[in-house]
Amino acid sequence: MATFLFDKTVFGPVKSRRLGISLGINLLPNDSKLCSFDCLYCECGWNPDPKKVKAVLPSREWVYSSLEAQLTRMSVENELPDVITFAGNGEPTLHPDFSAIIDDTISLRNKLASKARIAVLSNSTMLHKPAVVEALKKVDDNILKLDSGIFETIRVLNAPVGYFDFEKMIRQLIAFDGRLIIQTLFIRGEFNGVTFDNTTEKELSAYIELVRQIKPLKLMIYTIDRDTPLKSLEKVNQAELNKIASRIRETLNIDVEVSA
Ligand code: SF4
Repeated sequence: MATFLFDKTVFGPVKSRRLGISLGINLLPNDSKLCSFDCLYCECGWNPDPKKVKAVLPSREWVYSSLEAQLTRMSVENELPDVITFAGNGEPTLHPDFSAIIDDTISLRNKLASKARIAVLSNSTMLHKPAVVEALKKVDDNILKLDSGIFETIRVLNAPVGYFDFEKMIRQLIAFDGRLIIQTLFIRGEFNGVTFDNTTEKELSAYIELVRQIKPLKLMIYTIDRDTPLKSLEKVNQAELNKIASRIRETLNIDVEVSA
């Protein structure tokens, strides 16, 4: 099944389902995925074998000059983005200069596209690094992944690479003191004989309890859109997503944005 990689460091602009006209920044390799998760639904496909593929990350200087050139072009054409979004071929906070690149981006945004928001889509796995947390606190939309309130489901669905401490990650999400948005993908399916479904009663109860503790500004809930590495995944339909959103709103009185 076809999956998708961004072949540039600065890409787009693209119309994002969740964010508007978005200029993307890919801090990962342009020809392969690099992520601390290997989600079954990942649109970038699977992480390659690190022994076979050497990940080459863009330098801080390259990110700066590419973004400056693109924002200048867009300014001349009077088509500035609504949002500058860190996403791309994996987990942006894995970049060793992530924090400095966020500072550069804020400075370029202020100079060339003052109305654009800065968003980071992260899988929440690097929150044990204080510099990553401090950088995420500086952006307008700090969007962090939480696909389940149950570790076993995260283990199957998000497939953490290497050491992963779920309870510590939750404590770190709580420590943002509400300055975050939680993004959650709802899905069901089967992998290697294990079935999963993060829409069941047990799942929703555990998830809502964690969201209650984390107190995010809002939730973004969605389901798969593009091709994924696995065919045995089932999209959750719009009516089901709406029902889940209503339940969360009624229980927690929180803003829930739904994209199908
Ligand atoms: S966190 Fe995002 S990039 Fe990483 S594997 Fe999951 S979907 Fe793919």
